Amino acid sequence: MEHLPSIDSLLRSPACQPLTDRYGREAVLATLRQLLDDLREPARLGQLDSAELGTEVLAGRAGERLAIQHASRVRRVFNLTGTVLHTNLGRALLPQEAIEAVENAARYPLNLEFDLVSGKRGDRDDLIEGLIRELTGAEAVTVVNNNAAAVLLALNSLGARKEGIISRGELIEIGGAFRIPDIMARAGVRLHEVGTTNRTHARDYETAIGPRSGLLMRVHTSNYSIQGFTAQVPTAELAQLAHRHGLPLLEDLGSGSLLDLTRWGLPAEPTVRQALLDGADIVTFSGDKLLGGPQAGLIVGRKALIAKIKKNPLKRALRVDKLTLAALEAVLNLYRDPDRLAERLPSLRLLTRPQADILAQAERLRPQLATVLGQAWSVAALPALGMIGSGSQPVARLPSAALCVRPLVPKRLRGRQLLGLELALRSLPIPVLGRIDDDALWLDLRQLDDEAVWLAQLGQLQGEGSQG
Ligand SMILES: *Cc1c(COP(=O)(O)O)cnc(C)c1O
Repeated sequence: MEHLPSIDSLLRSPACQPLTDRYGREAVLATLRQLLDDLREPARLGQLDSAELGTEVLAGRAGERLAIQHASRVRRVFNLTGTVLHTNLGRALLPQEAIEAVENAARYPLNLEFDLVSGKRGDRDDLIEGLIRELTGAEAVTVVNNNAAAVLLALNSLGARKEGIISRGELIEIGGAFRIPDIMARAGVRLHEVGTTNRTHARDYETAIGPRSGLLMRVHTSNYSIQGFTAQVPTAELAQLAHRHGLPLLEDLGSGSLLDLTRWGLPAEPTVRQALLDGADIVTFSGDKLLGGPQAGLIVGRKALIAKIKKNPLKRALRVDKLTLAALEAVLNLYRDPDRLAERLPSLRLLTRPQADILAQAERLRPQLATVLGQAWSVAALPALGMIGSGSQPVARLPSAALCVRPLVPKRLRGRQLLGLELALRSLPIPVLGRIDDDALWLDLRQLDDEAVWLAQLGQLQGEGSQG
């Protein structure tokens, strides 16, 4: 039986010195203790030789454990899934201007709730209110943590203990357990659903309105589409109907785009300005979907209603932080120059990247990936169809291009082969995420900006992805 060295001697050994310098004495001590605990039984059973218990060897093993423990869990990835605004991958990427604004806000004190003119306490919404009013035509604005929070807060402020009237066709679920009926219930609003799944008429709303009514709600069915025999009351007509009865119309736009996206050849998406022009009294939308900014929920609309929303104690619980506000202001500023927006706003730049451009990139990279993967795979540069993501335009497809990787093995073995390659790509220093479809792994290159970095780590795939 070999004797384990003492913790003390290990900790004081020169081999452990670089570890304590890097991770601190406490972390090294804990790791060494654990390591020795793990070795005690094998050592007692005589399964270890003295070389395995040398100070240098043990320090090396402790170093490996510490490196793993201290590695960041928040990891950059390559999003080659073809879905641009991918909720699980952090949605919109921020423009340089916003990144600098975030850095400044993080580094220095700022006038978050301080009016530099009067020298008195200010309101954090004031920092971006002017800009949002200018860009949407709204009378007033308030910003919260995300659009789910915006809907919850608006409903609770304007409809608690009353009925919220909404079409059955708009009782939607967004990924991540956001369901309109549940949010309404939590907001204290009694759901009064009208019409049917596919058709709802003005008279359905009309008959539902009564003394207990608090508001009318419209939800943009952003993540699914009903086709065929359908009917929906246009927002303008719904607003008139609501106002005839002295009720507000609340519209949850979801992605809520600030400009007409068709000018860049993208599918039409309702704009916030249009919803307000149509007569919606309150409009809610996300900051990190088509707007291309940080996670946030924007609530815009009539001054008196926004004032009521801001007085709700929930507002304090749902408010945004300074980093978000700094990023949001910088992003909104870019919208003042729509002509250059597609160059400057990453999400729009990526969404509007021409297919020919992406295909050329795929053709350029194809031979290099094929070489790395070897004989067991075929690699082709092919047109592909991507998506906007985050529930925007679920049916619309973005013409894109991809590296399509097929295993050259009998059909029954392909699934396992593909999963192996997918895992190998996911295990790279900067994990590469694609999608498996039709017995192939597709790497959609729409979002591959950093070609050199991507290529540089491909070499590490050798042997891993090609065990065929
Ligand atoms: C995305 C979406 C939400 C939720 O927005 P988050 O910013 O993800 O909280 C709510 N309503 C609609 C219609 C949406 O599309």
